[in-house]
Amino acid sequence: MNRIMNQIIKIEKPMIIAGPCSIESYDQAIETAKFLKDLGVTHFRGGAFKPRTSPDAFQGLGKDALEIHKAVKRETGLMTSTELMDARDLDIVYDAVDYLQIGSRNMHNYSLLRTLGEQDKPVILKRGMAATIEEWILASEYIRKAGNDQIILCERGIRSFDSYTRNTMDIAAIPIMKQETGLPVIADPSHGTGKRELVLPMSLAALAAGADGVMIEVHPRPEEALSDGEQSLDFDAFKKVYHEIKSRIL
Ligand code: PEP
Ligand code: MN
Repeated sequence: MNRIMNQIIKIEKPMIIAGPCSIESYDQAIETAKFLKDLGVTHFRGGAFKPRTSPDAFQGLGKDALEIHKAVKRETGLMTSTELMDARDLDIVYDAVDYLQIGSRNMHNYSLLRTLGEQDKPVILKRGMAATIEEWILASEYIRKAGNDQIILCERGIRSFDSYTRNTMDIAAIPIMKQETGLPVIADPSHGTGKRELVLPMSLAALAAGADGVMIEVHPRPEEALSDGEQSLDFDAFKKVYHEIKSRIL
């Protein structure tokens, strides 16, 4: 279905999108969403269809997670986002959340990009983990040319020779993408580093470089998380990060 919207998205600054890597249960999602809402966060994230490197790893709750997203929205009023991995799931994902995310592994999936270009909901376009800046710009053009200018770019780290961190966050890409595309750019220091202790410094670095916001993974009990626990913040740690961001970034 074509639902087109031509307008560059205006976002509150800094836009803070937070939530678990994966939606694991109603209780986990609601507990997190209520905590975030009470803190003042406006955007909730949570994976329903998870692009995992191993086919044996937790793949997400799929449709059940989308129902949980709807409940989160109903009960908290937060704006919600989740990744669309497969165009066959477009209608159910479209109905469940406010923002549609394209993950790093799908940045080069041009038919999926075109499909999202035909929608009237904002798209969060993550940078491919091995994508050049030029390729990332062109990926955003696929969405734009299909009719949707509501794009938020997300720097989430790229592969480099160094494996000390999960990825290498390309801070320079933030001002470059803003200049080249005129689109809002956010940063994801959770996937960008893979280490929870680096989430605060890299959030501040990204925002200082002009990022319009950050996306951060938060879990009530990271040690029990079914995905990305090691980079997820618990509530106390996230609260500190949130207040640091709010107090330092005007
Ligand atoms: C995510 O944000 O849930 C995710 C899988 O990130 P990425 O696509 O950047 O790896
Ligand atoms: Mn994750």
